[in-house]
Amino acid sequence: MTSRGRFAPSPTGLTHLGTASTALLAWLSVRAQRGAYVMRMEDLDRRRVVAGSADGILGDLRWFGLDWDEGPDVGGPHAPYAQSERGPRYAAAFENLRTAGLVYPCFCSRKDIQSAASAPQAPGDEAHYPGTCRDLAQSEVVRRVSSGAAPAWRFRVDRAGIIPFTDRVRGRYEADPGSIGDFVVLRADGVPAYQLAVVVDDIAMRISEVVRGEDLLASTVRQLLLYRAFEATPPVFAHVPLLLGDDGARLSKRHQGVTLRELRDAGES
Ligand code: GLU
Repeated sequence: MTSRGRFAPSPTGLTHLGTASTALLAWLSVRAQRGAYVMRMEDLDRRRVVAGSADGILGDLRWFGLDWDEGPDVGGPHAPYAQSERGPRYAAAFENLRTAGLVYPCFCSRKDIQSAASAPQAPGDEAHYPGTCRDLAQSEVVRRVSSGAAPAWRFRVDRAGIIPFTDRVRGRYEADPGSIGDFVVLRADGVPAYQLAVVVDDIAMRISEVVRGEDLLASTVRQLLLYRAFEATPPVFAHVPLLLGDDGARLSKRHQGVTLRELRDAGES
């Protein structure tokens, strides 16, 4: 089978060197195997999406020297390649989880969860959910919904199902099962959560290897649980180091001179 890699940026601003570096490593890995490179825009969170950023990122990455076989601008057999256009696929996947009894409605606010958090939060990780709504009686769910509360839906984590995996860069990764709480797959506003969308898309797009920033290493454990729930074979993962500024913090808008736009404007070629 041909290798299939992907890069999945969130269009939330300018492309900075950290994005370009991860995109390059993902490209290099799959091109070295004469595989296909897929570009996918992760634009589900409308509050964070910046207008024009998706086109800006694609233009910047092309300028940087990358090319892709499938993507929002070139199409391909697994179109559409923007998550905002893939709603029915996430809805169908969610329905499968719901009918299998693998998810439950949760009425907790972010504040409720943070104040009850029992485990320290890893970087890039969601707050540990203490399981408050895990065993709510059906009558209580009906009561809350009829009084107007909109629930998020969480995946019911079976701790015994959390297994170590081998990352191509980081080696064997073993999560502490106590640190993985039931996680959100559908937000209260109806938007699919990253964990669900990324797995549904990587399965549908037949992705065989994922190269991405190491801030997502801890998320992989949750995603593996979803692969199992969907009875799909997970890709191979490689979590690569993030680029840091002089201050030791992850590159971001706060740092000067690190966007591809600035390099292009400075006449780099
Ligand atoms: N959209 C995510 C981000 O920009 C990356 C998701 C992934 O590669 O799994 O951080």
